[in-house]
Amino acid sequence: MERKGLTEARRIVVKVGSSTITYPNGKVNYEKIEKLARVMADLQNQGKQMILVSSGAGAVGVGKLKFSEKPRDIPGKQACAAVGQGILMHIYERLFAEYGQTVAQVLLTRADTLDRHHYANARNTFQRLIEWGVIPVVNENDVVAIDEFKIGDNDNLSALVAGIVDADVDILLSDVDGLYTANPQTHPEAVRIPEVTEITAGLEAMAGGAGSRNGTGGMITKIQAAKVANSSGIALVIASGADPEILRAILRGEPVGTVFLPHVSHLQFRKQWLAFGARVEGTIAVDDGLAAAIRKNGTCSILPVGVTDVKGNFESGVTVSVVDKTGHELARGIVNYGTEDLRKILGCQTKDIEKILGYTHTDEVIHRDNLVIM
Ligand code: GLU
Repeated sequence: MERKGLTEARRIVVKVGSSTITYPNGKVNYEKIEKLARVMADLQNQGKQMILVSSGAGAVGVGKLKFSEKPRDIPGKQACAAVGQGILMHIYERLFAEYGQTVAQVLLTRADTLDRHHYANARNTFQRLIEWGVIPVVNENDVVAIDEFKIGDNDNLSALVAGIVDADVDILLSDVDGLYTANPQTHPEAVRIPEVTEITAGLEAMAGGAGSRNGTGGMITKIQAAKVANSSGIALVIASGADPEILRAILRGEPVGTVFLPHVSHLQFRKQWLAFGARVEGTIAVDDGLAAAIRKNGTCSILPVGVTDVKGNFESGVTVSVVDKTGHELARGIVNYGTEDLRKILGCQTKDIEKILGYTHTDEVIHRDNLVIM
C-alpha cells in the first residue's frame, strides 16, 4: 500500500489520547473535543465511517474529583475511570448530536479480543452500529479490566478495534506529531520519519519511552499498535492532535505525521486468514439456489432458508466450510449460530427464527462480510 491509498479510506478509526482532550490538570479541553467532533461528523457526512477510540476517562475522573494526582492503587484508578467515562460520553453525545450524529459507547477488554464468542459478538455489534450510521466511541472497560485482561493503553486498543471493524486506517492523534529519528525532546537534531514500510528492530529501539503526564501510551505502544494494525493489513498514522483538522490532510494523503504502511490490504489479509488461517470446525451444506448465488456474486449472505445440512459440532463464532450438495467446498465463513440451533432452523424463513429458537441472533447464518469464496 502507498500513502496516497489513504484517499480511498472509508472506514476510519481515530484514537485520541488523554493529553489531547484534557488539560494537564485533568480538566476537559472543550475547544479540542468540540473541533474533533466537528471534523469527524463532517467526515461521516462525506460518507466515511468513523470510529472514535477515546482515552481520558481516568484523567477526566481525576479532574472531576479535584484530586491533585492520579490515585496509585488499582481500585482508585478504576473508580476515577468510572467517574470520567460517563462525563466523556456525555460530552461526546452532546457535541456529536450538535452536528446531527448519534454515538454509541463501546467498552472492551482484552478478553473480548481473545475470546472468539466475544470477538464475534463485538464484530456483529460494530457492524450494525456502522450500518446504522452511528459513530462508536470506544474505550477500555477500565472498571473491570485488570492484570492480564487489560490491554492497558488505547494505542493497542485502537489497533485491535481497527481489526474488529475491518478499518482501512487507524489514526493516532497524540501530543507527538510522528515518529522521529530520536527523542526530539532530548535530541533537537531529530527529524520526523514520514513513512515506514517495515517495522525493524532498529526502528523500535529508536522509539524511546517518552510519554506525558495524563496519558498511558508513549511511542513504544504506538509502534506496537502499528505492528498489530499492519500485520492485519491496516495502515496506521501517528499525527499531532493539536488541531483535529489534520484528519482531513491525512485522508487527502498529505505527508503529515508518520504513516505505517502494510504490505497487504486488510481485505486480502482477512480473506487469507479466513481461507487458510482459521481452523475449520464444521460444514454447512447449501441448496442449489444459494450455491449458484455464491458462485455468481463472489459473495452472498447465507440465510437459514438456503441451508440444507449441518455437519460437526461447533459453537457460534467459529469458521465453517460451506459446501454444495455434492460436498464441493464453495466458501468459508464465520458462523453466527452453533450446530444445535442451526439444525433447528435449517430451511426456515428468517422471520421464523425467533419462534423456533426463542431468540434471533442475526438474520444471517453467515454474513457476507464474513464469507470468503474458496
Ligand atoms: N482507558 C484509559 C482512560 O480512558 C486510557 C488508556 C490510555 O491512555 O491509553 O483513561
